[in-house]
Amino acid sequence: MSKPLTGRVAVITGASSGIGEAAAEHLAGLGARVAVLARRADRLSDLVARIEKDGGTALAIAADVTDVAAVRAAADQVAAEFGGTDLVLNNAGVMLPAPIDEVATDQWQQQIDVNITGLMNVIGAFVPQLVQAGAERGVADLINTSSIGAQNPYPNFAVYCATKSYVTQLSKQLRADLGPKNVRVSAVEPGFTTTELQTHVTDPTISTWLETAKTQLEWLTPSDIATTVAFIASLPPHVNIQQLTIMPTGQTS
Ligand code: NDP
Repeated sequence: MSKPLTGRVAVITGASSGIGEAAAEHLAGLGARVAVLARRADRLSDLVARIEKDGGTALAIAADVTDVAAVRAAADQVAAEFGGTDLVLNNAGVMLPAPIDEVATDQWQQQIDVNITGLMNVIGAFVPQLVQAGAERGVADLINTSSIGAQNPYPNFAVYCATKSYVTQLSKQLRADLGPKNVRVSAVEPGFTTTELQTHVTDPTISTWLETAKTQLEWLTPSDIATTVAFIASLPPHVNIQQLTIMPTGQTS
């Protein structure tokens, strides 16, 4: 049976867990060769082994997205081993909510560093390959993981939500630059999704609020987001989903 992403090369950041991990497996199952990037090398090796066991092709690259030189080296490695990238899921992120008057500046900075600077490092390193793919093959995809937090205010999540507003707005802006070069740009904005993201929260009150929310409605799974990403990338080249918000049915805001 033909696979819709055969011939494509996907780079997935934040692939050692959650949404990125699920997306890597799903895109590989649809025929893409995948390069998976995160800091935890052991998790990436396990992922690559699973993908290859299922007949796919995968490359693990252990790198921190805040390290611009490491991300550029990753782009060179993908070009050398796979001949260039035509799909980037720019997905690595952290969420560290806290009451703003606690002035948790380290956590503010960490979110800005990963969710904004890291996102830009990936864009800077891979956009030339996407543009080349757009010119040579007529289509390429830059899919940025934003959040429902880009749209709505949530108490204690101001810095995280603002980083995600940046992701959604940047994605809209980049369409103006890259659409004419056959590079589609999309922002995917998930609501509550069960991953490791919530386990890094250090504020006990907010952790309890998140745990309670899990008991009150059925959260999305990483696989739900992975199929959405594959849908975006599988559309005909003239169709660009600019912004896609995907919510648990029971989550109303
Ligand atoms: P996870 O915590 O499971 O995954 C986050 C990924 O980002 C991990 O693979 C982690 O890998 C990677 N990462 C974090 N920091 C860095 C870094 N400095 N360099 C490289 N990789 C890094 O959470 P999710 O799967 O939920 O998160 C994926 C994206 O989805 C994030 O952008 C998040 O903001 C967004 N999102 C999630 C929602 C949810 O409810 N889960 C809702 C809306 C959006 P490692 O630690 O190995 O480096």
